[in-house]
Amino acid sequence: MRKIAVYGKGGIGKSTITSSLSAAISKLGYKVVQIGCDPKADSTINLTNGQKVTPVIQYLKEKGSCESLDEIAVKGYNDIVCIEAGGPTPGVGCAGRGIIMAFETLEDLDAFEEFKPDFVFYDVLGDVVCGGFAMPIRDGYADEVIIVTSGEKMALFAAGNIKMAIDSFGDKGYGRLRGVILNKRNIENEEEIVSRYVKDMDSEIIGIIPRDGNIQKYEEQNMTVIQGDIELPISKTIMDIAKSIVEGSEIQ
Ligand code: ATP
Ligand code: MG
Repeated sequence: MRKIAVYGKGGIGKSTITSSLSAAISKLGYKVVQIGCDPKADSTINLTNGQKVTPVIQYLKEKGSCESLDEIAVKGYNDIVCIEAGGPTPGVGCAGRGIIMAFETLEDLDAFEEFKPDFVFYDVLGDVVCGGFAMPIRDGYADEVIIVTSGEKMALFAAGNIKMAIDSFGDKGYGRLRGVILNKRNIENEEEIVSRYVKDMDSEIIGIIPRDGNIQKYEEQNMTVIQGDIELPISKTIMDIAKSIVEGSEIQ
């Protein structure tokens, strides 16, 4: 089982890319679980054809405890298991703490023993700003991290912060950085800017995703482009990135 956390600045395309990679890796014949770690609980919406997944935290708040995975896990496209951690009421409580509670619940319910995934993707909100959001790369939850960035300054700044957090956990055997996906915003010299930045981070670009209107077109139908039309150039690009992730060796 490989457990991969996807981080990046707010709005950069984490959920879109994570869902597309989950879909692509499931197309390669692997069993995938995607866990949204964002109070918005919208990570998996394009895998479930719009069906709402009850966030773990919301379920716990309403019912006190969760006895069955059926209550919080929905089988989506190509049997991908979709789970949303959820979060507290906006303005009240700590979102990071919510993620910790959700993970503990999944452990109590033996989620991975039940679903036996080959790949687990964690789609994590924004920057690593507190312990809760670092949770997926701590305590053995995720072994690998992928950072999504564009060439925009604030996206690169967030990428640098995430890398710093990973390095600060590094010696303790927590998640390691697999690489960076450039999700293009079409700024001038974008590939060059990001290549340089990523090299300075001692990492590598493992995929370049162009801006493509088909992403929105299928998003309006609550689908990834992989589900929408696997023959599109954008789908082929995502399939290629998925293959390179699948073939990737263990990170030392
Ligand atoms: P948040 O931090 O709020 O969770 P996010 O990083 O998960 O955001 P998404 O929700 O995946 O970002 O993407 C934001 C929007 O950008 C979406 O509407 C998506 O359709 C669009 N988008 C992302 N990547 C691309 C792309 N390569 N081409 C076209 N549109 C894109
Ligand atoms: Mg998101």
